[in-house]
Amino acid sequence: MKVLIVDDSKTIRALVAECAKTLGHEVFHAETGELALKVVEDNNIDLVLMDVELPGLNGFETTYAIRAMEKIDWFPIIFISSKIDDDSFAKGILSGGDAYLQKPINPLRLQLTITSMERIYMMRQKLHKTQEELVVANKELKLLASFDQLTDLPNRRNFDETLKRQFLLAQRNKNSLAFIMCDIDFFKPYNDHYGHQQGDECLTTIAKAIGSIPDRPTDKACRYGGEEFAVILPDTNRIGGAHVAEKLRQVVLDLAIEHNKSKIGPYVTLSLGLAVYTGQFETKEELIKAADDALYRAKKNGRNRVESF
Ligand code: GH3
Ligand code: MG
Ligand code: MG
Ligand code: MG
Repeated sequence: MKVLIVDDSKTIRALVAECAKTLGHEVFHAETGELALKVVEDNNIDLVLMDVELPGLNGFETTYAIRAMEKIDWFPIIFISSKIDDDSFAKGILSGGDAYLQKPINPLRLQLTITSMERIYMMRQKLHKTQEELVVANKELKLLASFDQLTDLPNRRNFDETLKRQFLLAQRNKNSLAFIMCDIDFFKPYNDHYGHQQGDECLTTIAKAIGSIPDRPTDKACRYGGEEFAVILPDTNRIGGAHVAEKLRQVVLDLAIEHNKSKIGPYVTLSLGLAVYTGQFETKEELIKAADDALYRAKKNGRNRVESF
C-alpha cells in the first residue's frame, strides 16, 4: 500500500516509516495537515497514519477534510497521538478515523493495526473490482439482449419493442408509419451450394448494407429472423417508404454476391414487401401481416422486387 505518515516530528515519522516499510509498504511523508491534503490529492494513497497535534490544521481537521474530498475514495486513517482521553478518541473516530493508537509508539501494535486495516482495505478493493466487472457484464448483457450476434443489427426482441412503441406513437399522433419486410431470394439453395458458413458471411454482408440505408435517427433496420429483415420508418408515407424499399433492393443487388443457384440472375437478390400505416390498422400485427402479404406477392411476381400493400 501507499502509506502517508503525517507528523510534525521528523523522528516520529522515521519510526513510523520503519514499521510500514518492514511490512513492505511504500511511504510518503507530510509535516503538516495542509501538506497531507496535497499528498492525498496527488498520489492515490491507501492508508494514512495521522498525528493529532500539528501546526495549522490539526489531525482531526485534516481527516475531516480528507473525507470531504469528493474524488478521493475511502481508505483507512489511523490516529497516533499522546492525547488518549475519551474526548480525543471520539473526535478521532467521528472526524473519519478508523483506529486510534497511543504515543509513545508501540511498534508491534502499530504494525498489527496496519495489518488489520489492510485487510479491510483489500476487501474493499475486491468489492470495487466486482462492481466494475458487474458494470461490464451488464453492458454486455444489454447488448446481447437487443442485438443480433451474427449481424450486429437490432434483434427480434428489439424489433418487437420498437415497432410496438412506434405503432402506438403513430396511432396517437395520427402519423404515417412505413414498414418494410425483406427476404433474401433463394437463400436455402445458396446455403446448400456454398455452405452454411458462407451463408452466414452473405447474411452479414447483406445486413450491413441494409443497415446503411435508413438515415433518420428514428429509422431502424432489424434482423427479423433467419434471412429476413424488417425496416421500421416512423413518420414516413408511401412515397418515402417505396423510395427506401427500392434503395434496399438496389444496395443488395449492387453487392453483386455471386449466386449460381438463383433462378433469376447471377447475384443474391432481395424481395421486399412494403406496408404503410395511415390509420387503417388496429394493431401492429395487421401492419406486419400487410407487409408479409406484399412480400409474398413480390416472391410470386418474380423476386428481386418491391411490392406494396
Ligand atoms: P425464397 O426465395 O422463397 O425466400 O427461398 P429461400 O430459400 O430464401 O427461403 P426459405 O425460407 O425456404 O429458406 C431460408 C433459408 O435461410 C433457410 C436456411 O437455410 C437459411 N438461413 C436462415 N437463417 C440462417 C442463418 O443464420 N445462417 C445461414 N447460413 N442460413 C440461414
Ligand atoms: Mg424467409
Ligand atoms: Mg422464404
Ligand atoms: Mg428467402
